[in-house]
Amino acid sequence: MEEKKKASGMTPSPSYEIRAHHGMCLAFFQGKGYSDTFSKHMGEVKQLLDTNPLIRITGEADAICSVCPNNQEGVCTSSETVVEYDRQVLLRCGLSGGDVMPFREFEKKVYDSILIPGKREEICGDCGWNALCYFENEKKGKQR
Ligand code: SF4
Repeated sequence: MEEKKKASGMTPSPSYEIRAHHGMCLAFFQGKGYSDTFSKHMGEVKQLLDTNPLIRITGEADAICSVCPNNQEGVCTSSETVVEYDRQVLLRCGLSGGDVMPFREFEKKVYDSILIPGKREEICGDCGWNALCYFENEKKGKQR
């Protein structure tokens, strides 16, 4: 929290906008995505985020959406669904759209509030990529 306050009060602007539900997608990203271009780009964004830059959390199109084939002039074709995913992640992590913090701080909130307690499916269990997004210890009983 202190770190977040410090970050918000500082002049450096965030390097990336990251939409809230992408905190979950990034945790399980395995190089697969909507197109080769998209997957390559998401891998590059993930690598950059691993350097722990300052990010702004958003509920709108972000650095990952930028090359997605579902991004139609800045609006996701699954807008209704993903906006609700974003809303749930913000709510459960105690965040608001526009919050600025180091990526690792955001990542920790997503892990602590959603992924480790096993709450992810409650948010995005209906996503087409759901089958990829389990930790090893969760996989038993999930595979058909
Ligand atoms: S445009 Fe939609 S489907 Fe594509 S990355 Fe963004 S939220 Fe996901």
